[in-house]
Amino acid sequence: MHTPLTEHDPARETLGTLAAPVPPLTETIPALSAYEAFSANASLYAIAVVDTVRRPVGILNRFKFLEQLSRPYGRELALRQAVSSFMDASPLVVDEELSLDELSTMLVGDDSRYIFDGFIVTHDGGYLGIGTGYSLIRRLTERKHAALFHMAHHDSLTGLPNRQLFSAQLTESLAHAQQHGQHVGVLYVDLDRFKAVNDSYGHLVGDLLLQSVAMRLRGAVRAGDAVARLSGDEFAVVLNQLNAEEHADTVAAHLLSVIRQPHSLDGHEAHISCSIGIAVYPGDATSQGALLRAADAAVYHAKRFRNTFQRYSRDLLQGHAVGLQSYGSVKRAVEEGHLSVYYQPQVDTRTGALYGVEALVRWTDRERGLQSTPELIRLAEDSGLISEVTNLVLEQAMTQVVAWTTQGLIKDLTLAVNISSVELRDGHLVPMIERHIAATGFIPGHLELEITESTAMLSGRTAGALLTALTSMGIHLSIDDFGTGYSSLSRLRRLPVHAVKIDRTFVEDIEHRQSGALAQAIILMAHSLGLSVTGEGVETERQWDFLEANGCDRVQGYLISRPLPAHEMTAFLNTSTFTPLSHRR
Ligand code: C2E
Ligand code: MG
Ligand code: MG
Repeated sequence: MHTPLTEHDPARETLGTLAAPVPPLTETIPALSAYEAFSANASLYAIAVVDTVRRPVGILNRFKFLEQLSRPYGRELALRQAVSSFMDASPLVVDEELSLDELSTMLVGDDSRYIFDGFIVTHDGGYLGIGTGYSLIRRLTERKHAALFHMAHHDSLTGLPNRQLFSAQLTESLAHAQQHGQHVGVLYVDLDRFKAVNDSYGHLVGDLLLQSVAMRLRGAVRAGDAVARLSGDEFAVVLNQLNAEEHADTVAAHLLSVIRQPHSLDGHEAHISCSIGIAVYPGDATSQGALLRAADAAVYHAKRFRNTFQRYSRDLLQGHAVGLQSYGSVKRAVEEGHLSVYYQPQVDTRTGALYGVEALVRWTDRERGLQSTPELIRLAEDSGLISEVTNLVLEQAMTQVVAWTTQGLIKDLTLAVNISSVELRDGHLVPMIERHIAATGFIPGHLELEITESTAMLSGRTAGALLTALTSMGIHLSIDDFGTGYSSLSRLRRLPVHAVKIDRTFVEDIEHRQSGALAQAIILMAHSLGLSVTGEGVETERQWDFLEANGCDRVQGYLISRPLPAHEMTAFLNTSTFTPLSHRR
């Protein structure tokens, strides 16, 4: 079996391994023998002195011994004396079973003399070898390095290798497989909806669940296979010595069922499933990088269905076009907080007074810079991460608006947050909003959720109930990108919405075709249903004038301000408090 990068367990190490088997001297032997032994070996530091049955009676320290010989009486004479007259007769004698840790405590705690003098290690009371403080310190340092190595390469929660060690293990596996003409399978294992478990049971249970998953994964593969935790709820498995590529599928199916079994954690029974992406060397890719990308593309697809595995195929890559961000990178962006919220003001059309801000998520990738928001949203929706994006936006934006209010910069500002259709179907939204309201002290009546027109129209009965639940909490709803979908007026009337936002394309028409007929119609219709209207994408004075003339309630767009990061929005609020946007009036 080929076990890559093995490590030993240093905690069990005893003195037996440390003792140097230096030949001892019998107590009656002339000191000349000791002198010869020390002269022959410059690094010999101490020699044990034993009785006739090899029981230690003393220790000769190199430097003390040589010093005594240099005293002003005949060296010749001295060398004929028995070694016992030079030895330290109360040596430190320890049993080989003593652990290194216990010994070092003794040496330091008692009398540091022994660190310099050396000590004698025995087995059943008989001489076994000699140890010195120096060798002990060196060994302890090596162990510390080993422990640091372990810490740097393992995840402290699950004890599994981390991404770095995993990639070293994979390198070894691939080299080995290449030599022996074998297959290697790489499985990316991603837990489904782990965030939800974490949120509903708390982090402690979440951690227990990750540990339980780690143990099951480790237990479900062969000892020669590698299991690692890459980040949060993302694991990876390397299957070594696969006889056939299909065996990777068999293992994946097994892992799915193993993870699906209920986990009993600290009195809770938790259920979780996972999604697995598979890539096999050399069939799917021959380089390590390409193999990992293939597994990533595969898990991205598996994630759409959840609780399933997906083997890589070239077709997958078509949808996962080159240049686009991968699922893994979106996930890391969410987890590592590379997402931030920008704010775009919405103002009263007539007075120019600030009405609210729309929160728009921004993704700044460390290497590639600012990424496209629509692309981020699409990837997040496809891979089940959208609820985490919303969670992050709500948390940041509510905290920020509360802070602005506390600072006296704003009063009664409406915060608009975009919600995806996917979220109208899963049950997370209401508890999530409730949690953030409780945590930040945000006033529910100041929250407006924007759902797109197509979402509002398509959503079924559960979504309708959800919207009603939201409005009964005092939250306002508006229909985003209005005019682009196919709204049924009767349906629109029955939805508990408060406002519509005229899509930017109609506002553009005002400028370019000099005909705002559609915008005009939308405003009339919305008002007749008792809804207020916001014009989106207002870039020119002319558009603003037209919208104002037609009774549009609010405007939003680059003319007023681009979406701004929090600190710039703070500056915007500072100036607009004193010079309201009505400056254009
Ligand atoms: P949206 O909700 O209709 O947001 C308005 C978009 O128009 C924003 O693009 C904004 O930057 C842009 N915009 C604002 N004023 C002007 C203007 O005067 N001219 C032009 N040309 N564009 C303007 P952004 O931020 O890229 O967002 C695109 C879409 O992504 C949003 O459309 C929304 O549907 C979605 N989105 C943004 N943030 C989130 C979020 O946190 N969650 C969800 N689920 N979706 C979001
Ligand atoms: Mg919007
Ligand atoms: Mg819009």
